[in-house]
Amino acid sequence: MQTVIGLEIHAQLQTETKLFCGCSADYFGKEPNSNTCPVCLGMPGTLPVINKRAVDYGLRAALALNCEIPERSKFDRKNYFYPDLPKGYQISQFDEPLAVNGYLKLNGEKIRIRRVHLEEDAGKLIHQSGGTSSVDLNRVGVPLIEIVTEPDLNSPKDARDFMEKLRQILRYVEVCSGDMEKGSLRCDANISLSDNEEMGTKTEVKNMNSFRAVESALRFEENRQKETLESGGKIDQVTLGWDADAEEARPMRSKEEAHDYRYFPEPDLVPLVIDEDWKERIEENLPELPREKERRWKKEYDLPDYDVGVLTEDKEIAGYFEQAVDEYDSPKEISNWIMSELFRVLKLPETELSDVEPGDFAYLVELVGEGEINDNTAKDVLERAFTESKSPKEIVEEEGLKRISDEGALTEKIEAVIEENPDAVEDFRSGNEKVLGYLIGQLMSKTEGQADPNKAREILKEKL
Ligand SMILES: [Zn+2]
Repeated sequence: MQTVIGLEIHAQLQTETKLFCGCSADYFGKEPNSNTCPVCLGMPGTLPVINKRAVDYGLRAALALNCEIPERSKFDRKNYFYPDLPKGYQISQFDEPLAVNGYLKLNGEKIRIRRVHLEEDAGKLIHQSGGTSSVDLNRVGVPLIEIVTEPDLNSPKDARDFMEKLRQILRYVEVCSGDMEKGSLRCDANISLSDNEEMGTKTEVKNMNSFRAVESALRFEENRQKETLESGGKIDQVTLGWDADAEEARPMRSKEEAHDYRYFPEPDLVPLVIDEDWKERIEENLPELPREKERRWKKEYDLPDYDVGVLTEDKEIAGYFEQAVDEYDSPKEISNWIMSELFRVLKLPETELSDVEPGDFAYLVELVGEGEINDNTAKDVLERAFTESKSPKEIVEEEGLKRISDEGALTEKIEAVIEENPDAVEDFRSGNEKVLGYLIGQLMSKTEGQADPNKAREILKEKL
């Protein structure tokens, strides 16, 4: 039996203001209903004015997803009544969307994107105990793009991978924060099973608020459909809501009660005309996308595919790596230090990437590479650089953490060790070479681990 999945994704655009009014689009955490105006509240007599930046962002996303941009698109009213929608309709795009026919490659396969269109977000209902509900309209009118895929995904895991890849791209082109927990990126899925060329009856799964939820919810529904079909049952066309705590998808409403949206053109907005100049301007300003970066890095840095995948995942980390390599041209060492130590330190409370400049990070990795400082000291310095807002160089220099490889200084310490350990020295002289390790250990504790062990061994042998 073949699983067929298509996704409908809503991504909030990170513009300053809402799609059709001057209210802030950054509504999260604000006092309920404080972030509104007559336009987004749908007062009679008000008119929407399109936010050009939102169109630009929609185009950035669409072009990064390899879409065609028709010269003309238009806005439509999608009519339905719901308490979180004060106008009684949502301004969306119906038969002439902003962009069509795109794709995103997943494991070498093209997952087709049917369309990308602009629309405004609705408000939020807050259900309280005792059967009452409140409404918060701060989110009403925040710009969204809806991205609709063709049913090209064949497993819950692929659906999750697709969402992760999509988020990566939306973040690279800086149009969406991609925060699923806060609802900045949301996903609904259609899923059906079939054992022949015919498509089976599909169901819709909603309320998946994390990548893990996308995979678990779809796996749950895939299994349910499989069991139903295998026992001779029939799949009903239903909408299911994912309950992440119960790990269960439950029916929300049946398709018979589905809305008839009575779409018609939005009379208060002229059609959107995207000419070649506009398109080119957006295209020229697109940053290097993850796939292009990966290809270039493999050539330039001679890194394993795994490293390239991890480091290009996040645009900021990718930039940090490139700047660090500019300072210390040893990509693999830099990569190792980012993937192990930098990622570890960034998980500590109140640390962020901007705490330590990439050049300063590179300086520390270089000290290790050249044997001037040992691994453990460097790890400690890095952590302190992030938590104490000092540069690694300051810490190393102020505290004299570089290895002692200066012969004079080492010899002095070694002579002291020899004097303090007459028994061990006697043992060595009578042929017990193993004692050398013990004496080196004594030297290390005397120098707090900073003696260059190879050089120390040489001098010690000579002295003995
Ligand atoms: Zn407003």
